[in-house]
Amino acid sequence: SKSEIGLIGLGTMGRALALNIADNGFDVAVFNRTTSKVKEFVDDAGELSQRITPTETLAELVAAITPPRAIILMVPAGKPVDDQIEALRPLLDANDMIIDAGNANFRDTNRRAAETGDLAFLGIGVSGGEDGARYGPSIMGGGPKTSWDRVSHILKAIAADHKGEPCATWMGEEGAGHFVKTVHNGIEYADMQMIAEVYGIMRDGFGLGAATISKVFDRWNAGPLQSYLVEISAAVAAAIDPETEGPMLDAIVDAAGQKGTGRWTAIEAQHLAAPIPAIEAAVVARNLSSQRQIRAKGEELFGAAPHRIPHDILGVDQLEEALIAGKIICYAQGFEMIAKASIEFDWSLPLPDIAKVWRAGCIIRSAMLDDMAKALSEDPHRNLMFAPHFAKKLKASHIALRQVVAQAALHGTATPALSSGLAYFDAMRTARGTANMIQGQRDYFGRHGFEHINGSKDQHGPWAD
Ligand code: NDP
Repeated sequence: SKSEIGLIGLGTMGRALALNIADNGFDVAVFNRTTSKVKEFVDDAGELSQRITPTETLAELVAAITPPRAIILMVPAGKPVDDQIEALRPLLDANDMIIDAGNANFRDTNRRAAETGDLAFLGIGVSGGEDGARYGPSIMGGGPKTSWDRVSHILKAIAADHKGEPCATWMGEEGAGHFVKTVHNGIEYADMQMIAEVYGIMRDGFGLGAATISKVFDRWNAGPLQSYLVEISAAVAAAIDPETEGPMLDAIVDAAGQKGTGRWTAIEAQHLAAPIPAIEAAVVARNLSSQRQIRAKGEELFGAAPHRIPHDILGVDQLEEALIAGKIICYAQGFEMIAKASIEFDWSLPLPDIAKVWRAGCIIRSAMLDDMAKALSEDPHRNLMFAPHFAKKLKASHIALRQVVAQAALHGTATPALSSGLAYFDAMRTARGTANMIQGQRDYFGRHGFEHINGSKDQHGPWAD
């Protein structure tokens, strides 16, 4: 009998996804560019191989799927996706569906959706890494709702489960799913960066070893900061390097890699004029981390920072509070960006559902997302920081964030994400800011005009002529 769905690209993610699909009782036909990997994969699939049909050509793959077909692409984003679509197109019938499950740029997904003609096209963001793909990812879908509805039973079955609710949600038309996945990754960058920053204060400011730091993260993971990222930070800090027999963390080079989704978030935020400084700071921090030699020269030239922070000035509990504040602030920025995009692209992005789909399966899953989903359900148009639950938390925790940022600055530890998060918070609680000076300058040199506080628009200052 024929398979219900097909999958192309048996790499890390594709293999895991195919096994997940089979594990959930669906027959899946698979193909991979390097065809030898297809047989290897099926041979290793054990009992699940009964549900997996290996194929060696695209024509064979297409023939193995029940029409109207649905085929998942799990190949690297960019040209490989376009190439695969081109190769499939002549083999497919009208209404057959291609589902790009890679980390596509949503603008590519918009374009592909417009180009696929009578084929159906879905762009789905899949988060959770290899384990997520195998045992339940978070899935953010985009494209025609009717196409989503055709395959949603499979996507919901393979997705993570949050207390009975599957983490697979249709976000909107075109590249809406890939857009939401991109912002997810941007938030992920900021969340990771803020954790790295408090790690830095514990290591350099407090002089704590990795094992102690691991215990701190473990403790935090039992409280309001409970999250996958804090959990794995504890595990990373606890691990021992078999070679040096010291902490693994101490043997890892401090230059972070990236595949571009954080950068895309920052670029799109600028297009949208959406202020997401904590996320941008996290992207910048990764770029800066790769400049190792320059940093080493800088240390020679300016002298080594950071310096120890006395225990009576700052403690681990304040770091926890600061991280809570920083986390609320950076998620508020991410959701504000999504709200702006929703208007700009006419997508009606479901903010509460986005918080819900992130509660399980994905890298940024956390206890706090439950409260965020609730707050956004009450009022999706309100900045998350202003929702009563989070306003109360911020009123209590911004003081610690302030102390952490101030002490880090005084002792020479860079905390770019926490600092810009704090600056965002302060700007967002200041009714009278300083852009009056900007407007004065703009009018002075360019006669751009300003609004007077009496309400009259297009006013000019007495400096004209
Ligand atoms: P891998 O590198 O493990 O696998 C890539 C797969 O794509 C291989 O099967 C490879 O085939 C195939 N492929 C590569 N180039 C082409 C091409 N030009 N034409 C056809 N097939 C090609 O990648 P991943 O599984 O890690 O990632 C796949 C997608 O999933 C990417 O978009 C990635 O960004 C996204 N993703 C990855 C996550 C992760 O944690 N790894 C998490 C979420 C999303 P061959 O065997 O012939 O080389």
